[in-house]
Amino acid sequence: MPHPTDPAASRAATRAKKTLLVKHADVVVTMDGARREIRDGGLYVEDNRIVAVGPTAELPASADDVLDLRGHLLLPGLVNTHHHMYQSLTRAVPGVQDAELFGWLSGLYKVWANLTPEMIEVSTLTAMAELLLSGCTTSSDHLYLYPNGSRLDDSIRAARAIGMRFHASRGSMSVGQKDGGLPPDSVVEREDAILADTQRLIETYHDEGRYAMLRVVVAPCSPFSVSRDLMRESAKLARHYGVSMHTHLAENVNDVAYSREKFGMTPAEYAEDLGWVGRDVWHAHCVQLDEHGIGLFARTGTGVAHCPCSNMRLASGIAPVGRMRRAGVPVGLGVDGSASNDGAQMVAEARQAMLLARVGFGPDAMTAREALELATLGGAQVLGRDDIGALAPGMAADFVAFDLRQPLFAGALHDPVAALVFCAPSQVALSVIDGKVVVRDGVLQTVELGPLVERHNRLAARLVEAAG
Ligand SMILES: [Zn+2]
Repeated sequence: MPHPTDPAASRAATRAKKTLLVKHADVVVTMDGARREIRDGGLYVEDNRIVAVGPTAELPASADDVLDLRGHLLLPGLVNTHHHMYQSLTRAVPGVQDAELFGWLSGLYKVWANLTPEMIEVSTLTAMAELLLSGCTTSSDHLYLYPNGSRLDDSIRAARAIGMRFHASRGSMSVGQKDGGLPPDSVVEREDAILADTQRLIETYHDEGRYAMLRVVVAPCSPFSVSRDLMRESAKLARHYGVSMHTHLAENVNDVAYSREKFGMTPAEYAEDLGWVGRDVWHAHCVQLDEHGIGLFARTGTGVAHCPCSNMRLASGIAPVGRMRRAGVPVGLGVDGSASNDGAQMVAEARQAMLLARVGFGPDAMTAREALELATLGGAQVLGRDDIGALAPGMAADFVAFDLRQPLFAGALHDPVAALVFCAPSQVALSVIDGKVVVRDGVLQTVELGPLVERHNRLAARLVEAAG
């Protein structure tokens, strides 16, 4: 669209802005610099950005769309920093329900080898629907296998259809069983092909601008499924284009033992050696990050995606989130692949982060508000964004509201903000992303859920049956 050059055209452009007023929320959790919580508050949006946040009485009186949120809690859209959405086709698969990480992966690789582009697209849509309804407005996804012509483009199509803000991570595996790796040779790729496709994706899709709906991330799967060389080359490519980098690190004690045996280093030392530390890098899990690693991550601004449900499901341990945060490590939350969590519910993940921290480190290890901070501001910081994660003028219009009048919140309204985390996980009544209403009255507006879930279940059955 051409920029208006004369005052009349400029006024016309101003008039053409679409406005949205949200008012009378019982409490607005801003996550702004002062962590304000505003009673009887709301916000005012122009197009895709927030213009004003405050008590209802101080906001403009009208707008193109006005939403009355009496009885609701309003907060920034939650940010999911780690996921493998395709895995929502293989939840609760009987053979690996009780396996540890490496056994679990070995059991599922042969199933995932039969994935198709249609399965990637449909499972991404379903995973995003589940996330959206749980309050998530921005998600990363780590897709690291591309069998049968699958491409990251399949996930990107899904994100655009459903309207979610998306950090699409171009994962990869290159060390198959014949080279001493864990994955079967049929699901690994050649390293030159990985780098060429990653470059294509960045050049085709990556938007570095403020309020970007789509960013591409360079993301080899893990140090035990790609070579040292690919880790280094990936970092070079990412930094050439100024895009973020993501992988799995120090997930459990076996992971650390593998790193010591194979590379003669701890996972953190290995990451540093490869150039995989910095503000443009975030690692999933880091359950076994040692004191040296915490110091290194804090000094370099390297981020961590904390995935408490997955860590419990696979008995990987309890990540030292409190120590990381006190040291200054950016920490966000991740639901992780549905197959190692079986649920992609962001409020549940925040709740689990709080509960698990207490199991490990005592009842004051994490408050409800700290858990919400991880789920909003923390996630934004980990993804390298300063335009989401808080409600303030100039921020993206990404916010969600929960209906406090549900039975699950009854008797908890002494502190509605803490109630969201302490009580059973709720689904959203409203979700706005980039200024567009994506969930209204609890109903997803962009995709019809019934047929989607039916199609997803058909594909899931076909995928698991194909592996025998
Ligand atoms: Zn993962």
